[in-house]
Amino acid sequence: MRCPVCASQDTRVVDSRPVDQGEAIRRRRHCRACGYRFTTYERVTPTLVRKRDGRLEPFDALKIRRGLDNALADRPLPVGTVDLLVARCEALARDAAGDVTADEIGRTVLEALRDLDQVAYLRFASVYKEFQGTGDFEREMAALEKHT
Ligand SMILES: [Zn+2]
Repeated sequence: MRCPVCASQDTRVVDSRPVDQGEAIRRRRHCRACGYRFTTYERVTPTLVRKRDGRLEPFDALKIRRGLDNALADRPLPVGTVDLLVARCEALARDAAGDVTADEIGRTVLEALRDLDQVAYLRFASVYKEFQGTGDFEREMAALEKHT
């Protein structure tokens, strides 16, 4: 942590304790360069995504993982593919800081799967996109054929 007075990187934590019923950690820091003492607070910053109705909800890695586990079951993909895709989604949501929708995250997964495995792609598409009828699925098939 850079010293706010002299901008030195050479600071150290001299005291840490939980505050706000454990929801934050307060740290007293000491700058070795100029001797300044300052306080920082460490908190969890939830990763948010926007729902269709515009409200924000926490990013749900488990939901995406479940969808991917189902879609990739028995498919000949490298070990760790699910972890990689979940991590990619989480990074996307984190970088967007609430300015990303669940649909956009779903599309990111679909684009990745389309290049990896077509069966997994269609399985995930049918689950994630919550298809209303067979028309959606046929459109998806047509888009896939156009892509390949
Ligand atoms: Zn300093």
